[in-house]
Amino acid sequence: MTARTDELRSNLQQVQERIEKACQAAGRSRDEVTLVAITKTFPVSDVRALAALGIGDAGENREQELKEKAPDCPDLTWHFVGQLQSKKARSVVRYASVVHSVDRLSLVTALSKAAVAEEKSVRCLIQVSLAAYGPADAATGASRGGVEPSAVPELAAEIAAADGLELGGVMAVAPLGSEPAEAFAGLREVASRLRSEHPGAGWISAGMTGDLEAAISQGATHVRLGRALLGTRPPLR
Ligand SMILES: *Cc1c(COP(=O)(O)O)cnc(C)c1O
Repeated sequence: MTARTDELRSNLQQVQERIEKACQAAGRSRDEVTLVAITKTFPVSDVRALAALGIGDAGENREQELKEKAPDCPDLTWHFVGQLQSKKARSVVRYASVVHSVDRLSLVTALSKAAVAEEKSVRCLIQVSLAAYGPADAATGASRGGVEPSAVPELAAEIAAADGLELGGVMAVAPLGSEPAEAFAGLREVASRLRSEHPGAGWISAGMTGDLEAAISQGATHVRLGRALLGTRPPLR
């Protein structure tokens, strides 16, 4: 048992307690929420250790890291959560079974082609922009991605009709400087409109280390946790 494994075990325990408490506070059952460990920037040894501790879902935000780590941990369900260039769709589809960051028609086309070629079914979440809930002042930071809520129905119809793809639901990142519970309440409305058209599209991927409680209070089915599990990341290059 290494010191790192001890640290990961203790982090995981604390995270599980946070999720459990948040579910209780929201009157939800713990098994409605899936924990996706976001392992970006951390070594595959950490991913293996988390898998040994019972984690079943892992996610990456860059194709390069996904393809380096996923083959070593084939028993995990891999999620892709980052900006995706169409030319990387084939590689992402090879390793991930869920893509959380579908944000344009051209990417739907690329993912569909890739899924057919890989003979896989890929669950796609539409990344929704919650910028409307952030500070109006553009100087507070770049957009955190996603389509406007009004563009969701069209993208959803394209995914639902595409070979090899399955419409899974929505994903969002709360804007910096927003009140996350308000932003996630907005996401919940988008999700419920989507679900009335597409009953199978019930996933809501929302909540990170800083705002998982707010996300769970607003119906998140998947929380994406990096730092809470793995510790502080080195600064981005
Ligand atoms: C890095 C990342 C996360 C995890 O964020 P933490 O704050 O480390 O929990 C979640 N979602 C996406 C899209 C990310 O890029």
